[in-house]
Amino acid sequence: MTEKLNREDIKSLLPEELDAALRAMGEPAFRAKQVFRWLNVPAASFDEMTNLPKALREKLAERFYLTAPAVERKQVSALDGTVKYLWRLNDGNHVESVVMRYEHGNTVCVSSEVGCPMGCAFCASTIGGKVRNLAASEILDQVLWAQKDSELKISNIVLMGIGEPLDNFDNVVRFLKLVNDPGGMNIGMRHISLSTCGIVEKIDKLASLALQLTLSVSLHAPDNETRSKIMPVNRAWDVDTLLAACRRYFERTGRRISFEYAMIRDVNDTPFHAKLLADKLEGTGSHVNLIPLNDVPESGLRPSTPETMRAFIGTLEKRNINVTVRRKLGPDIEASCGQLRREREELR
Ligand code: SAH
Repeated sequence: MTEKLNREDIKSLLPEELDAALRAMGEPAFRAKQVFRWLNVPAASFDEMTNLPKALREKLAERFYLTAPAVERKQVSALDGTVKYLWRLNDGNHVESVVMRYEHGNTVCVSSEVGCPMGCAFCASTIGGKVRNLAASEILDQVLWAQKDSELKISNIVLMGIGEPLDNFDNVVRFLKLVNDPGGMNIGMRHISLSTCGIVEKIDKLASLALQLTLSVSLHAPDNETRSKIMPVNRAWDVDTLLAACRRYFERTGRRISFEYAMIRDVNDTPFHAKLLADKLEGTGSHVNLIPLNDVPESGLRPSTPETMRAFIGTLEKRNINVTVRRKLGPDIEASCGQLRREREELR
């Protein structure tokens, strides 16, 4: 472990950084591409990189370490083929990822942190708080190893697993560049969605990068009283401050925001909430994705009834707001929004 502290995380290096490091070691120009390819295979050790000279493999192993998550547990939904992974990271921490099989392509939902600091009342990922950021390599590994293990070609990514991506801004942006690189997974920004609970200063920072990914914002209530009760982040940046940042984001990137709204019985699903939400979003061209609340026993919260949901949708549609209801995948393996956990109790 002490030795490892002196070594560098090779998979978190951007292609140009890898190139500079290898040239500084006296390697020829083509080496970086070769190594980058192996990192994305993904190779679990430098020894597997068989087209590199043995001496170089040894030098690399002295200077760098290679992240490689182990499958602690894998569950496959009998209902829709959704696959959930619990990974054990190099340092023994755990995170989860989910592979969903949509008609438009296989999508992996990845975690960005070990645990989550945001404290939303309805979400299992935040129970126990945040342990640490994930490295860019550890976010990328979830895509690489899920694809390899499941043998499902991944074409889309959602940063909607455990953690708040914008709380781990630098590593997440690094991950986006790595997974987007033509020499690696080559996944287009338009095939990537990033979801945030609403850290306004980081939404502006992301806007300044003008990436073409889809930004989803977890709104969950149109008024401060309700939102502050279920989402502590609202006490730092309230609803109108958040919506103003969303407008700036659209102006800067040309990409419309998608709003997530988990329907919680008697909390945020009344006619008052539907009308206020319509008032705030009317004319913005935004999209609202309603999520029937998924079961997180610790929260004590319950999903809205189907009738309440229908009435809520009716109010929004009457005001020409584009509404969809998120399909629940993997209900038999707790793979749905808000159900991912850092570690399962039975493993503690
Ligand atoms: N931290 C980011 C990424 C998480 S994405 C964020 O907050 O956006 C997971 C999505 O599922 C978020 O919109 C989150 O608010 C929502 N969610 C959390 N718990 C849920 C639950 N029990 N039922 C339905 N959706 C939930």
